[in-house]
Amino acid sequence: MSKTLLVYAENRDGRLRQVALETLGAAQQIAGAQDRIQVVVAGSDITSAVSELVRYGVDLIYTIEHSALEHYNPEAYLAALKSVLQQAAPDLVLFGHTALGKDLAPLVAAHLQAGQISDITSIDLEGGHPVFTRPLYAGKAFEKRVFEAGPAVITIRPNNIAAASAAEGSASPIEDVAYPSPSLRTIVKEVVQKTTGKIDLSEAKIVISGGRGVKSADGFKPLEELADLLGGAVGASRGACDAGYCDYSLQIGQTGKVVTPEIYIACGISGAIQHLAGMSQSRVIIAINKDPEAPIFKVADYGIVGDLFDVVPLLTAEFRKVLV
Ligand code: FAD
Repeated sequence: MSKTLLVYAENRDGRLRQVALETLGAAQQIAGAQDRIQVVVAGSDITSAVSELVRYGVDLIYTIEHSALEHYNPEAYLAALKSVLQQAAPDLVLFGHTALGKDLAPLVAAHLQAGQISDITSIDLEGGHPVFTRPLYAGKAFEKRVFEAGPAVITIRPNNIAAASAAEGSASPIEDVAYPSPSLRTIVKEVVQKTTGKIDLSEAKIVISGGRGVKSADGFKPLEELADLLGGAVGASRGACDAGYCDYSLQIGQTGKVVTPEIYIACGISGAIQHLAGMSQSRVIIAINKDPEAPIFKVADYGIVGDLFDVVPLLTAEFRKVLV
């Protein structure tokens, strides 16, 4: 029997997020030849996100555009999705494991009385049935889970599953869905962004993180310079955040963000277990620390024993020679 997979395509500031394409990639991995992949895009300015999505040749794109959806509000977004969920009657709904996805997916699962598997990092097919892998205990163990009955909801960890690729010459049909304008118990009046224009830490392919070893807010400047040159994002240990060198929004670890970039460069970070919980799944880890015994070197693929204030500017200068 054919199934319907419904992908929630996350967008921000009118643009499709990379995780939306990874979520679509996950749906393409799971879908059999007879299955339908449908996508839902919601927001206040979704024109360019939708025109990008059209190129992926999905079976149907539902669009819900309304000024009430400018900022994420769980009540408004669930209300917006309800009629799509009713119409599509999906067997599987897919979200990115982002701040929005972590909040909205359980609401949708509760609404559908569906099971949910979260924070998936890989998908295998056994006899055509998807088996989902998710990390446990901060990446020290992995769990494989399957659904025994539907409907089902999953969230996909950013930077782990290959993004969908656009299908040449194909176009996807679009169906506009009306926002039901429900009366809301809370409304978002304003969102004050701290990091406008910066690459999102959880989606960055390269993360340069600073720890207490950067010694001051100014100590982050060489890291920012390297990150800008490489098109990466700056992160931090809690040590650096607690010391007031940077904002807590940069914190990576057990009580911060979990990142899985292709390259993670830890500068002046000792490598406490709580920090490793947020970055040990990175593809390549490079550690710069002046203490050769620092535990970060145990998880690093490449280690540089030295003063970060010497090493980071040297790296920037060398990369500039080949990149600029
Ligand atoms: P330190 O441990 O002080 O290390 C600084 C390092 O910089 C040292 O290794 C030193 O050799 C090196 N250094 C100094 N100067 C230089 C230089 N000039 N050049 C090169 N190297 C230099 N931590 C997190 O990061 N994320 C979390 O989410 C998190 N959650 C936590 C939750 C709980 C419940 C608890 C108890 C702790 C948590 N921590 C977390 C804190 C964690 O235990 C560590 O205290 C913290 O990660 C240490 O930060 P750090 O490595 O920057 O500092």
